[in-house]
Amino acid sequence: MHLVFFGPPGAGKGTQAQRIVADFGIPQISTGDILRAAVANGTTLGKQAGPLMAAGKLVPDELVIGIVEERLKEPDCKKGFLLDGFPRTIPQAQSLEVVLQKQDKRIEHVVSLEVADEVIQERMKGRGRADDSPETVQKRLDEFRKLTAPLKAYYQERGLLRTINGVGSLDEIYASIKQSIGR
Ligand code: AMP
Repeated sequence: MHLVFFGPPGAGKGTQAQRIVADFGIPQISTGDILRAAVANGTTLGKQAGPLMAAGKLVPDELVIGIVEERLKEPDCKKGFLLDGFPRTIPQAQSLEVVLQKQDKRIEHVVSLEVADEVIQERMKGRGRADDSPETVQKRLDEFRKLTAPLKAYYQERGLLRTINGVGSLDEIYASIKQSIGR
């Protein structure tokens, strides 16, 4: 099973992704988590990405594409994977397609969690992460609408987009996700 979780920051991708991981035994690959670890460890990647992340901006495509390409070579991805927070731009989606083609794989479902901006601002108040100040959250939402939202049409055209209402109980949302991926 090869999945992409798509949606604005704070849509609940990470939480729902963990349920998929538990149910289906495929790894969750979160570029945000990988980048935060790089920042915490003070690596070269972390030093490049840190200031952009703190400003609510996207990290350059080449950096994240490299991360994902390496990660997908790991043996735990053989059975499938769930990409969480990647791709976030059209060039990232195109590179992903090329990388997967080399391995004779392709994305089967792009699960889009739909949540209104106001609801996200409210949710993020409680999260308390360094990149979660209201100003940064707004910048990240702006980046999402500008650079990431166009991916919906990209995946819609390919017949892969599954649109889910991201507001409701965790169980309800998870049930809709499973239904949308035919499980
Ligand atoms: P996330 O936890 O997925 O919301 O990611 C946190 C931050 O990491 C984002 O605001 C971006 O600065 C950066 N980031 C994560 N994934 C990507 C990506 N696919 N492309 C560019 N930047 C990313």
